Amino acid sequence: MNVIKNTTADLQEMDRAHFMHPSTHMRQHAAGETPNRIINGGKGIYIHDTEGRETLDAFAGLYCVNIGYGRTEVADAIYAQAKELAYYHTYVGHSNEPIIRLSDRIIKSAPEGMQRVYYGMSGSDANETNIKLIWYYNNIRGLPQKKKIISRWRGYHGSGIMTGSLTGLAAFHNAFDLPRAPVLHTTCPHHYWNAEAGESEAEFAKRCADDLEKMILREGPETVAAFIGEPVMGTGGIITPPEGYWAAIQAVLNKYDVLLVADEVVTAFGRTGSYFGSQHYGMKPDLITIAKGVSSGYLPLSGVIIGERVWKVLEQGSDQMGPIGHGWTYSAHPVCAAAANANLDIVDGENLTGNAAETGGYFQHLLRATFKDHPLVGEARGVGLMAALEFVADKTKKERFDPNAKIGPRVSAACLERGMIARAMPHGDILGFAPPLCITKAEIDKVIDIAKQAVDAVADEVA
Ligand code: PLP
Repeated sequence: MNVIKNTTADLQEMDRAHFMHPSTHMRQHAAGETPNRIINGGKGIYIHDTEGRETLDAFAGLYCVNIGYGRTEVADAIYAQAKELAYYHTYVGHSNEPIIRLSDRIIKSAPEGMQRVYYGMSGSDANETNIKLIWYYNNIRGLPQKKKIISRWRGYHGSGIMTGSLTGLAAFHNAFDLPRAPVLHTTCPHHYWNAEAGESEAEFAKRCADDLEKMILREGPETVAAFIGEPVMGTGGIITPPEGYWAAIQAVLNKYDVLLVADEVVTAFGRTGSYFGSQHYGMKPDLITIAKGVSSGYLPLSGVIIGERVWKVLEQGSDQMGPIGHGWTYSAHPVCAAAANANLDIVDGENLTGNAAETGGYFQHLLRATFKDHPLVGEARGVGLMAALEFVADKTKKERFDPNAKIGPRVSAACLERGMIARAMPHGDILGFAPPLCITKAEIDKVIDIAKQAVDAVADEVA
């Protein structure tokens, strides 16, 4: 007979014995050496766990719970749709009402020229779709050599085989035989570390575009299909583009007939203070990846928004090849679409994009004012409701800490001890913030206050 085990210790024992976690140290976890919190609820910007702790989540899960936790409107929409129609596929022209309404509102709010949305379940699978559509696009155009994809060092685009290759972070490549050709990585546009002494943001942006152009010419423009980038780099360290960056990159891409994919898995639906990050930075993408904020993570949903240039060729392709050979069982799932519509009703109805601009502006100001002169902080940066602190051993000489000192994770742990989640980003000593977009100014004061205490505590330890 099965014995129901339900104390926290029982659950943790079962977790360690049977559950493989993503991005977790396998042996340490199995041995019970790493934290193993079991989250069982949330309200607004707070989550709570089975041990009764309440924690301010200044990273919105994985920058996805934009409307905050516990919104029953979304739960009700999920329930209603599951009762009505829990599932039917969307192959060969079948459809459902929630996905039709969702597509209509996404296209109407997206940057100009966007034509259709294809749906998946994760940011990774949406980027896989992007690459397949790009290769198909150039085959149909009679350009079978034009297949290489350029991304950037420290970009993050997922952890599949192709998308893990696009990701420009060693931790996602090592021992996985990634990256796989035909993917290339160009300069990371982080002015703080990568600009030369005295180089302005605009000069550095121009140099990044020149590096891209040199790479395209070296490879042969006839072999380069697309460039993929996050409007603001996320997992690589929450890095805002230097002044003039996207215009300079766009000019190079246009010159060599290279498509632009804006990976907006983090930035779409308000996070920068504009509805899309592409709109915030005046980008003109051919394809846009969406996920996280489309449903605030209440159910998994992702998508690829397809612009005019690619869409026309896809239609042409069907005439040549028959129905497109790309499809997933759960694409355009009606219950996920109902969750997304209820989520976007809240995003729009409560003007969370406006809040990301207004409260985000307050956050950015306070973050810089609090940490500008702090000896441990080399840079305080961000836009809207995404931000980061970069820790350095020597501020004047711009020297990094020894990675073994794990300064980023220590500050993150010090935040957690004080009741707040801020994420130690996987590359460098960086503390990331991306709170729910419903956060208030009073809550921002609390975020800054806890972050200050945590940074001071670690600064005292290393002094
Ligand atoms: N693209 C970006 C910009 C992301 O930040 C992420 C995840 O954080 C992904 C793609 C991959 O999304 P997923 O984890 O849903 O596969």
